[in-house]
Formats: sequence, structure tokens, C-alpha cells
Amino acid sequence: MQIGFIGLGNMGAPMAANLAKAGHQVLGFDTAGVTVEGVTHVETASDAVAGADAVITMLPNGAILRAVADQVIPAMSKEAVLIDCSTVDVDSARAVADQAMGAGLLSVDAPVSGGIGGAAAGTLTFMAGGSEAAFAKAAPLFEIMGQKAVHCGEAGAGQAAKICNNMILGVTMIATCEAFALADKLGLDRQKMFDVVSTSSGYSWTMNAYCPAPGVGPQSPADNDYTPGFAAELMLKDLRLSQQAADSADADTPMGQVATSLYEQFVENEDGLGRDFSAMLPRFEKRGRE
Ligand code: NAD
Repeated sequence: MQIGFIGLGNMGAPMAANLAKAGHQVLGFDTAGVTVEGVTHVETASDAVAGADAVITMLPNGAILRAVADQVIPAMSKEAVLIDCSTVDVDSARAVADQAMGAGLLSVDAPVSGGIGGAAAGTLTFMAGGSEAAFAKAAPLFEIMGQKAVHCGEAGAGQAAKICNNMILGVTMIATCEAFALADKLGLDRQKMFDVVSTSSGYSWTMNAYCPAPGVGPQSPADNDYTPGFAAELMLKDLRLSQQAADSADADTPMGQVATSLYEQFVENEDGLGRDFSAMLPRFEKRGRE
């Protein structure tokens, strides 16, 4: 396939490199002028998409996605598929899908989980929203860049799945960290806490697979001085998107709301910026009941 790839940042660069390695012809564009091995670099977004069978975007937010879509949709070939892998708000995902449909294109919103490591290793999980035909056309590319792709429903369903998952993740990480901090104050050994909770009804991915306590459980960013991993500011971005979606859908999400304000506080007023999102544990350790 000929693929246009727009947004060659931390995630986009290794994803584009994997597509090129698999034998696809990849034309890449990034406003920062990044170069990626195996990818042909072009001067504009329109140059990247002309004649392409598939166009992939991996951009910071919904406003940038909408601006890029305005540029590339008119330049794309009919029957080509637009695959947005960025994490953006559901409304932007749906607006871009409508615009693509109006132009006779297929489109999928396909945010990912798996982070930079998953992008490099080609083991991302894709959560996709769009028609059957659009998903079928994108699926072979998901197979190269990832290990799993779930077709979640119509346009916007991929973004909806992503932010609901990450709202659970943010809430659960906070619950796990505050429970460890309480256990400390009750004199409970952290290893014993892990041994019990990881095999009891309090278990979760944050406890069992990504334990926020250093030296306990499997290797995690906690064992590397909370170097991300998944940075607290990215968690905050996804939590904010979840609350934006909850506002527009009139959904009551009190835990998501609290998690958003705690990560906001942590990133903007404390030392959370640039640290892994599990660094909530040392944050709680330092605090008492107010
Ligand atoms: P990044 O900031 O490293 O990359 C974004 C790239 O887009 C940059 O290189 C930037 O120069 C480029 N860009 C910005 N505006 C542009 C434009 N108008 N045209 C062309 N290029 C433009 O971000 P990232 O970490 O690669 O994340 C990309 C997306 O993936 C985000 O939506 C993020 O939320 C999501 N995501 C990131 C991770 C992660 O661990 N980093 C995990 C899952 C999802």
C-alpha cells in the first residue's frame, strides 16, 4: 500500500517505521521536520496523502486533528481510508468522520494503548470506530503496528472505549496508591499488602501488573524512580477527555471527576509533571489527613 503518515512524534515515528519495514511505501509529514528511517519525507500534509490508499494521523489533540483533516481530506483519493490513531475528544473524532464520509472516503478513529514501547515493538492495541468496510481496509495495517484491534462500533466508538478504559485506569491507580499509603501508616509491610491484594478482590492491573510500590510485584516505573512509562500529564489529558465526553453525554462520573482534579493538582501544582502516573504513591505518602 501507499500510506501517508502525518505526525511523526514519540508514537507516530516508530509506527511509521514499522509500516515501512513491512514493505509499504510510507510518505511522512510532521511540522517539526522529524525524519524516520524508511519513510519518505515530504513538505506538506497534502503531499503525504496524494495517491495514498491509507492516511494515518498521530497528532496531539482534536483541534490539530480537525485542522489537518481540513487540509488532507480534499487531497485524498476516493475509496482511501483515513485512520486517526491520536487520542482526541469524541466530538472531534465524529466531526472528522462526517467530513471524510462527505468526501466519499472511509474513516476510522483508532486510538491505541501500549505506549511508546508498544509502538516500537509493534504490539499496540487499537480500539476502532467506523464502518465495517473502513475497519476491514485498516485491519492489515493494525496487524503490522499492533497485536490486537477491536472494532468497537461506529465513528467515535474507538475514542469512547479509550477514554472509558483510561478513566478506570486513573481512578484505579489513585485507589491503589492511597491504599498503599494507608497500609504504610497502619504498619503493614508492602510486600504482604501486595501478596494479599493481588490475589484478593482488590486486585487490578495497577496492583498486579504495574505496582506503584518500588521493589514490590513485577518490574514497573516505580522501580525506575517513576520515570515514565505513562506520564502523569498524559493520564491527565485522557481524564480531561473523559470528563469532556461525560459533560457532552450528560453522564454522572464522580470518580472520574475526582481523579481528574487530583491529577490536575499533581501535574500543575506539585511535582507530577514528567513523572509516571504511578508517582501518586509518593505523593500520598507525604500527606496526612486534612
Ligand atoms: P508527540 O507530541 O510526541 O507527537 C505529535 C507529533 O505531531 C509531533 O511530532 C508534532 O510535531 C506533530 N504535529 C503537531 N501538529 C502537526 C501538524 N499540524 N501537522 C503535522 N504534524 C504535526 O505525541 P505522541 O506521544 O506521539 O502522541 C500522539 C498521540 O498519541 C496523542 O494523541 C497521545 O495522546 C496519543 N498516545 C500517546 C501515548 C504515549 O505513550 N506517548 C500512548 C497512547 C496514546
